[in-house]
Amino acid sequence: MSAETSPAPTAATSPPAAAPPATRLPLRAELVGLEPYGAPQLDVPVLLNVNENPYAPSEDVVADIAEAVARAAGGLNRYPDREFLDLREDLAAYLGVESGVRPRAEEVWVANGSNEIMLHLLQAFGGPGRTSLSFAPTYSMYPEYARDTSTRWVTGRRADDFTLDLDHVRARVAEHAPSVILLASPNNPTGTALPTAEVEAVLAAAEDVPGGCVVVVDEAYGEFRRAGTPSALSLLADHPNLVVTRTLSKAFGLAGARVGYLVADRAVVDALRVVRLPYHLSAVTQAVARAALRHADELMAQVDGLRAERDATVRWLRERGLTVADSDANFVLFGRFDDRHAVWQGLLDRGVLIRETGPEGWLRVSIGTPEEMTAFRDALVEVAGL
Ligand SMILES: *Cc1c(COP(=O)(O)O)cnc(C)c1O
Repeated sequence: MSAETSPAPTAATSPPAAAPPATRLPLRAELVGLEPYGAPQLDVPVLLNVNENPYAPSEDVVADIAEAVARAAGGLNRYPDREFLDLREDLAAYLGVESGVRPRAEEVWVANGSNEIMLHLLQAFGGPGRTSLSFAPTYSMYPEYARDTSTRWVTGRRADDFTLDLDHVRARVAEHAPSVILLASPNNPTGTALPTAEVEAVLAAAEDVPGGCVVVVDEAYGEFRRAGTPSALSLLADHPNLVVTRTLSKAFGLAGARVGYLVADRAVVDALRVVRLPYHLSAVTQAVARAALRHADELMAQVDGLRAERDATVRWLRERGLTVADSDANFVLFGRFDDRHAVWQGLLDRGVLIRETGPEGWLRVSIGTPEEMTAFRDALVEVAGL
């Protein structure tokens, strides 16, 4: 069709479209003007920005997952198992091997990523008129979960070395009487793990909150903890208000599958069963998770290598005069730069994407393969003149 015969007016010649009638959407006031959350998803050779496991599942694991999904597909006319006790049992067994603490299946809960786990927790234990408390710098998603459940969000601060200042913690707990305390251990973006005695001190402070307080220890990076660093799982038996959350997204290398879980007293889990959406965990997700858990040894085999690479990265950055937070996770927070954005951009220009997060002057790099870490170091030497 030639330009002459085409009746379609071009943008330049067409009359301005009539303005649509002004539609007033009844958006909740606290959401007006907000942008969706998200780290940039850029197409860059070296992705070290969202703490993923750099190793894709092996062909064996992929084949087993595909077979499990095919089997689940044959039953997709039916709603999935609402209680998924088999998956909860598999996760309990995995934790028994990983941490030495083996919960009962009824004490395990699973959702679409630990972000949905947190949402369930705040739906049950937060809500209008209630407060959740954390200590910054910490995970940037927590305030979003609080907002979405109309829970008041309050942060105290961490000490300069990113550990908890227990006097400050006790004072904030007494001041705000939170119904939920959220503690990431190892913490994101700092990598800081909480010693058992500190979790116990927070639990003791929570005891004094009138009306009760649930203490959530988010161990998304738990498997990367250094030798001798404990898991809060060991405290569950004595603390019915303690919740420990985990995920298959990080050490397990299944971020794309969206599987998070928690362990807590059965009464906590029963409360979450009330607020979850019916059939929230699809049959496909359940099948993928169970198939992957059969390969836990293989999927976890990379963890030791990643921890060694992490420790080497910390040493290398310190040798070059940078300040580095101790890390029990698969990422490292380092600085401090007068213009951290320029350093971040310089790395990106060289094909290395890290994360501009944490306090002013700091940057966070996720631990990748040895080749990716070489690319990171080479780029940083050039950009920061180390
Ligand atoms: C990555 C991360 C998670 C995991 O989230 P998923 O929804 O399970 O992928 C949870 N907590 C923290 C602090 C994290 O950094």
